Formats: sequence, C-alpha cells, structure tokens
Amino acid sequence: MPQPFSLYNTLTRQKAPFAPLNAPFVGVYLCGPTVYSEAHVGNARGPVVFDVLTRYLRYLEYKVRYVRNITDVGHLVDDADEGEDKIGRIARARQVEPMEVAEGYTNLYQDHMMALGCLPPDITPRASGHIIEQIEMTEQIMANGFAYESNGSVYFDVPAYNAAGKEYGKLSNRVVEELLAGSRDNLTGQDEKRSPLDFALWKRADERHLMRWPSPWGEGFPGWHLECSAMSRKYLGAEFDIHGGGLDLMFPHHECEIAQSQACEHPTNEARVWMHNNMITVNGQKMSKSAGNFITISQLFSGENEVLAQAYSPMTARFFLLQAHYRSPVDITDEGLQAAGKGYRKLMNGLRLLDKLQLPEGLEAAADTSAADAELRKLAADCFAGLNDDLNTARTIASLFNLLRKLNGYAAKPDTLAQVSPAALNEATATYRTLVQDVLGLRDEPRASAEDLLGLTLHFYQEAKAAKDYGKVDEIRAALKQQGIVVKDSKTGVDWAYSEE
Ligand SMILES: [Zn+2]
Repeated sequence: MPQPFSLYNTLTRQKAPFAPLNAPFVGVYLCGPTVYSEAHVGNARGPVVFDVLTRYLRYLEYKVRYVRNITDVGHLVDDADEGEDKIGRIARARQVEPMEVAEGYTNLYQDHMMALGCLPPDITPRASGHIIEQIEMTEQIMANGFAYESNGSVYFDVPAYNAAGKEYGKLSNRVVEELLAGSRDNLTGQDEKRSPLDFALWKRADERHLMRWPSPWGEGFPGWHLECSAMSRKYLGAEFDIHGGGLDLMFPHHECEIAQSQACEHPTNEARVWMHNNMITVNGQKMSKSAGNFITISQLFSGENEVLAQAYSPMTARFFLLQAHYRSPVDITDEGLQAAGKGYRKLMNGLRLLDKLQLPEGLEAAADTSAADAELRKLAADCFAGLNDDLNTARTIASLFNLLRKLNGYAAKPDTLAQVSPAALNEATATYRTLVQDVLGLRDEPRASAEDLLGLTLHFYQEAKAAKDYGKVDEIRAALKQQGIVVKDSKTGVDWAYSEE
C-alpha cells in the first residue's frame, strides 16, 4: 500500500496527508516577485519547489489552478509601511514610468523561470490590476470593525482583531504582547497608527508618489500584504488549498494575509496548508549586497560574479535546488554546483539508457521472474516515497540513482534482462522517465553547441581532404547536406552555409 501524499503545514506544525477542499480541484498560490530589480538565486528556490509541487499534484490527477502573482505596486523600500515605493524609486532615478520598470523585470523574471524549467502559472495576476478588489476588501474589513482610517490611510487594527478572539501571530508562532514590547518605542506622537503592530491596507499617496489611484479615502495605493489576500480570494476563493512562499515571508507578510482574510467575511486561514521553503546562503553566509556575495540569476547562468568559478546551466541550478528538501537551508558553493552538474548529467544519461534496455534477440524471459520483479518494483516505488513524504525531492533523487544503478546493471549485461518480466521493466523505466522529466522537470540540455559540433565535422572534412580520401569527403558533404548545411571550399580553407534549396 503506497503511503499517502503528505505535506508539512506551517500553521499546524504537522505533517498530514493532503486532502483538497474540493477534489479533484486544487488551488495553489505562491507569492511572486517584487519587480523592481533582477531576481537573485534565492528567489529561484520557491518557484522551482512549487513548480515541482504543482507538477506532482497534476501527476496525482488533481486539477490544479496555480497562481503566482507579480508585485508591481505597494512594496515600500523598508518592507514596512514607510518609505518610497521600491518600483517608484527606480522609475524616478531612470526617468521612466513605474510600469516600464515593472514590465522589464517581469519579462526578465519570466524568462529566467522558463529557463529553470518552471511551467508558467495558470494565472499571473498583477497587484496594479486588482486595485478595485483591494479597495473592496479594505472596505469590508473596515465595516467589520477591524480597520480604521487615519489621515487618508487605512490601517488594520491588530488589537481589535485579537480582542475579537483571533490570534495574530499564530502562523509564525509570535505572541502579540511580546511583539508589542519589542516595538513600543517605535510609535511616535505623529504616527497615524494606533498600535505599532497595525499595518497598512491602504496608504495615502504624497505629492511625490508616482503610482496612485482614487479611493474612498483619497488618492493612494494598496498595502503590500493586501494584494495577495485580494488576488488569491479572487482566483482561488476565500479558502483554498495551499499557500506557498519563502520562510522570510512568513512574518509579517503571511501573518497579515491570514488576519486580513479572517477579518473579512470568511473566518478562514486563507489557505488550509501554508508551506514555506527555506532560504539560500552563499558559502555559508546570508546573501546580501553589502557582503558582496549577491548572485543574480543571470550571473549564475553566465558565471559573471566573483563568487562563482564558472557558469552554471539552468538545469544544473534546478537540480542543485531540488537536491535538498525544500524545508532545509541550501548553501551555494562552487563544489556543490559542480557536483549538481555531474548528478544532473548522470540522470540525463539514464534517460538515454532506457530505450536500450531490450532483451537480446533469441533470448526469452526466465520462467520465474518474481524475485527480480519484486526488487525492481521496490526500487521504483521508493522513488515516490520521497515525494509523498512532504515533497522530499532530495530523497526521490537518491532513489532515482538507486533505480538507475540497477538499470545500468541490466544494460551492462543484457542477458540478465531475462530474469525480469517485461511488465516490471516497463514500470520501472516509466517511473524513471516520468519522475525525471515530468515531475522534477529536468530536461535534456545539450552541452555542446550545434556550431561547435559543426566545426568538429569540418575539421574531419579537412583531414579527409588532406589525405585525399575523396570517398570520405563526399560522405561528409552528403551527410551535412541532409542536415541543410553546405560545405564551401575556398583558397583560405573551409566554411559552411545554410543550404538555400
Ligand atoms: Zn504575497
């Protein structure tokens, strides 16, 4: 009996079998990027992990709606309720529209995610496209007595929320009294907030603020936390199955999301299961611009960063990220990335091996294949055990290597394939192919460029010519012609061109 698919829920601090609210439908929401700069390698982990989650849910025959938002407004420079808008600040410096900044970085982010093998989400909502929904949600929270207006801004009233028997802090295991004790000094006489724990649902825009919309409280813009509550509610409902994000978003962002949803019409925790992926360090240190170990995704792919010894391909990066369980921290090192490259290529070589696993002609399967079948089926089933245990891709990859070792053994001695039934062999190869390609999302990434291979062929062509081996020369010409390439001999050497036929 295979074990059920279980997930760890930050909210309950427990692992439990996954049960959708309305099977076979599953709603998944992942907090997307704030598009004011290029994403760094740490930003790639969540999308890769939740891509595997949605791929696996689909493999399990659920009908998944996967939403990953784009934050293009409302995320302020200090991550709290003060300071300039992150995107607005860049737009002002470059003298362009804020939406130009957002558009450029959104496109770059999506290109990088595609390169990393992340399937496009079903819906990619932008915060700026959902102002009406955010205003409506703010009005609803105010009408329920959990928010107040102050000088054109609207704040969520954390003390009122808790007085109503709710638990602000339950996701991140924080106690309101302790939070208050730690932040009491931060509230000045001029502060618009009644309590330092209150957070903005809507902010009044001052004259300098570029992105602004009319609202019942004057011109302003929505708070960062509100967008995810409003957009997840719109596309997945007031209560949905899985909400994901990095551990750094658990507090205050996700805590505020839960409070907003509870304070609205539905007493739900927004999502049933809250999943958080752990963070990434570089050579054992937290990644930061000031520490000089900040690596963008482009830099990882090009190697143009002094922390890196070389370039790493997108699939190497994906394999590297999946080699760890998503709840464990990951440390980026050259050694680790190089080892990941080897591991990834080993898995790809395994894919090529599968087609060759044929019993040699003239041989028949043995009369009793039960022992070898049982062993092969166990190795294949083990590959699912990791995924079923809280999406443990690290364990699944280790199990795939175990399965591959067995298959390599058969390939080395094809006669031994007689010990196993074709059905068991097919199951094992199908498991390998499906998990590597469809669930882990690892695709073959050619190491050599077509141009380099062509150069190599022309080198052999010239050798044959020098040796006056005209049979070989014609053979190479004909073979290249079939690929749409014509060889051009000239006095200075040899070149190629696309056939114009
Ligand atoms: Zn969010």
